[in-house]
Amino acid sequence: MMGRTIFIDPGRCIGCQACVSACRECDSHRGKSMIHLDYPEEGRSVASLPTVCMHCEDPVAPCAEVCPADAILVTADGVVQQADTTRCIGCANCVNACPFGVPKIDLQAKLQMKCNLCYDRTAYGLAPMCATVCPTGALFYGTLEELRAERPGVQVADSFTFGSTTISTGVAMVVPADKVQWPVPGGLPIVEVNGVDVR
Ligand code: SF4
Ligand code: SF4
Repeated sequence: MMGRTIFIDPGRCIGCQACVSACRECDSHRGKSMIHLDYPEEGRSVASLPTVCMHCEDPVAPCAEVCPADAILVTADGVVQQADTTRCIGCANCVNACPFGVPKIDLQAKLQMKCNLCYDRTAYGLAPMCATVCPTGALFYGTLEELRAERPGVQVADSFTFGSTTISTGVAMVVPADKVQWPVPGGLPIVEVNGVDVR
């Protein structure tokens, strides 16, 4: 988990789409939101779940690993950047490699786009656009200590298993304290909570 990062708390999301609108304002993908808002139980509940890039740490950025043009750079502080416009060939390898379904391809421009943690803001200590506008704190930006100061006892997960592969991520997810072994909305099975294996 990165020192300062986004904590996604699906239990707080009210599906207002403020984060989606704010994401559209970002200069690097102006007019297009890189946030997916999913409704995992549509028709049965009003549950909603925002998905941003998880900035995979180990194995580092599967999207970047498979890029044949070396277009996706990872900064020294662990932020996985969106594709370099001068290198990306729009092959969509990164789309297929991402376990969280994050990157999008602009077919006309033959260009990949994804969340880069608002690096033009976070590199200078500002929160990403989505976390700035979220009215409920479903997208919280800060350190784990800052999150815990506001929400005592909160449990977070930054390790997710897909088949035989476990991925540690720079972005973390808040999980219900009494349901740590349950999949969170969206279906991601949780393996570690606060560093403890809960399988
Ligand atoms: S979540 Fe997907 S797009 Fe983000 S770093 Fe991981 S593999 Fe790449
Ligand atoms: S702004 Fe916050 S509450 Fe609204 S949809 Fe996005 S994550 Fe959910």
